[in-house]
Amino acid sequence: MIPVAVTTWHNEEENRCFLEDGYVMAMEQVGLLPLLVSPALSPSAAADILDSARGLLLAGGDDISPLYYKQQPLAGLEYVDARRDELEFALAAEALKRKMPIFAVCRGMQVINVAMGGTLVQHICQSKPDAMQHRQNSPQWHRHHQVTVRPGSLLAQALGEGLVGVNSTHHQAVDEVAEGLIISATTADGMVEAIERANPWLLAVQWHPERMWQRYPEFLQLFRLFAQACQGEKG
Ligand code: MN
Repeated sequence: MIPVAVTTWHNEEENRCFLEDGYVMAMEQVGLLPLLVSPALSPSAAADILDSARGLLLAGGDDISPLYYKQQPLAGLEYVDARRDELEFALAAEALKRKMPIFAVCRGMQVINVAMGGTLVQHICQSKPDAMQHRQNSPQWHRHHQVTVRPGSLLAQALGEGLVGVNSTHHQAVDEVAEGLIISATTADGMVEAIERANPWLLAVQWHPERMWQRYPEFLQLFRLFAQACQGEKG
């Protein structure tokens, strides 16, 4: 199995971190060994962590401090886990420097966009009142809204091009896309739902494939593409 570093959720009050089984089980299915990284680790450990890995998966989670993208906090910003931010921006910078494959989910997509110089919408309902509902009130695997997948993209290799139904549990979104990345999926309300680049390999999605693949196997293909990219790396 190919070792890959995976970031985790963090609960400051309870002093513990956690990760949903859906990530771990999907990675095992495609031959990846997830090395779970706790935000209790110091950011200075980032290089050592990635020395042990051949890829980085930035998982879903809470909000990012807007100071990272040079904005002040607006009403509607939710819980910010400062320690997780510190560790993940250190990991993202190190992985980018090493040209390591990066797969990013939900918060992870926001982290990588900001790490590369992009910005976020802090609270969709407030900044874009005409936007559709992006926080579903239904089972987490449910295809809540559709996205349009860009032909010829990495994403299209996994999901096909055109309209694809995905889940949606976010209240923030990518605003300005970082230089060097292309938008590979959008919603009808103009929200960015996936960004990527082919080389060095980077794929980021705003939805949660780890909650969908057991019901809709095409979402496992996202993890498989990541595994193939990691396999291409010298171990
Ligand atoms: Mn959405």
